[in-house]
Amino acid sequence: MRGSAIRWFLFVLLLVIGLGFALPAHAQGTITTGSNTFENHFPQNLLFKLQAQSSTRITQVALSVQIEGASSISRYNADFTPDTKVQAIYTWKIQEGNYLPPGVYGQYWWDIQDSAGNQIQTPKQAFRVDDPTQKWNKLSNDQLALYWYAGGQSFGQALFDRGVQAIKFLQQDTGVTVDHLIQVFIYGDRNDFFNALEPGATEWTGGRAFPEYSIVLINVEPSNLEWGLGATTHELTHQVIHQKVKGPLGDLSMPHWMDEGLAVYYENPGRVDSQFSVPLGRAIQADTLLPVRTLSGTFPADPSAANLAYGESWSVVDFIIRHYGRDKLAQLLQDFKTGGYYDDVFQKVLGVDTDGLENEWRKDIGANPRVVATRSNAAPTPFPTFGLSTEFTPVSPVTAPATASSVATAASPTPSYMKATATPQEVAVNSTPVHPSSSGNNTNAPSPLGNLCGGVFGLVALGILGAAVRQRRS
Ligand SMILES: [Zn+2]
Repeated sequence: MRGSAIRWFLFVLLLVIGLGFALPAHAQGTITTGSNTFENHFPQNLLFKLQAQSSTRITQVALSVQIEGASSISRYNADFTPDTKVQAIYTWKIQEGNYLPPGVYGQYWWDIQDSAGNQIQTPKQAFRVDDPTQKWNKLSNDQLALYWYAGGQSFGQALFDRGVQAIKFLQQDTGVTVDHLIQVFIYGDRNDFFNALEPGATEWTGGRAFPEYSIVLINVEPSNLEWGLGATTHELTHQVIHQKVKGPLGDLSMPHWMDEGLAVYYENPGRVDSQFSVPLGRAIQADTLLPVRTLSGTFPADPSAANLAYGESWSVVDFIIRHYGRDKLAQLLQDFKTGGYYDDVFQKVLGVDTDGLENEWRKDIGANPRVVATRSNAAPTPFPTFGLSTEFTPVSPVTAPATASSVATAASPTPSYMKATATPQEVAVNSTPVHPSSSGNNTNAPSPLGNLCGGVFGLVALGILGAAVRQRRS
């Protein structure tokens, strides 16, 4: 009898405790959500909307967005009026400092809290940003998706085929495996292209790369396919190499000449455009080659010098592949990924440091031996001038040399030769979002992506290339 009374007592006690815990929760109610939508209004904005309700006032609604390729999650407070039933909205302003290119995708979710302290998180939902202003065609495999809308099927097919071929070569030669879909958007019209970019994109930009998202936007007019094939390959090479070499923080640690040299090399394996080979040949003859060591960082500002820098970069990469072999090239990329001083990596893999490599390369191409400790970075050697085209005058020195690495600096004033043509000019670059407060100008903030295609100078040089190719081939 006694035992059963205790059991009865314990049962009642547990029941009361249980109710004690359960009842207040019921009384408070919980937060529930209704409609949860994403609207893509590229290039203006993205709208994230959520309906939620609770028995007490909802006091906080926050949106979290995780973009594929971005290193962090962004969290934003939504606009809403606190109430028991709310309609919350977050407007992602693409054109006002929060630029995203088409092709970006990711996940988002909401965190909601009410005045009683209840909080919930909605399940993660996928979203994708596309450019709905065009009617896109698409060709894709598991490594490359190419989108285009102008020029017909054969135009898109030609670009796609070249891209697939480039990736195949790159994988074979460099040991890189492309495990991340690369998306290429071909804009067949210059205005369309600029509408898709953030404000402040420089007038002469012919392409824009976003390595963190594995996305490239290129302006290829259907009449300019030949140029577009090279530009597409050039950009794909950067994407593939960056996928391979980039560190955990997305930074790229390899000599700039190697990055650009590979991009030029794969534009058309076995051949190099005369835009680069001519200045290279002249510099060999006149003994005015740029020290390879100086090409590890930013390329020269002067377009003639920049073209020579591209030519040399191509030539050294070509030499490495011919002389040391593709296995060594793959090994170099692998070691750059691991990290270390450039000289140490070259020494380990090739048995020579940068200067030693330059000596070997000079011998191979028939140049004079490297003159030790004469040409410094600070005192550029005079370059033989060469006509890019009779219509083009080299870009005049920029107005603010102190900020020569800034896109804004070189972009303004627009070089006369750039104004002279409406054709797309290369490709490149720096996907650093342009901050609105900088009046559409890029800043000097260090960016791991800033050296893509030599930053602005590569753009200038390749811009000339694009125009010149256009001139020659059309
Ligand atoms: Zn490049």
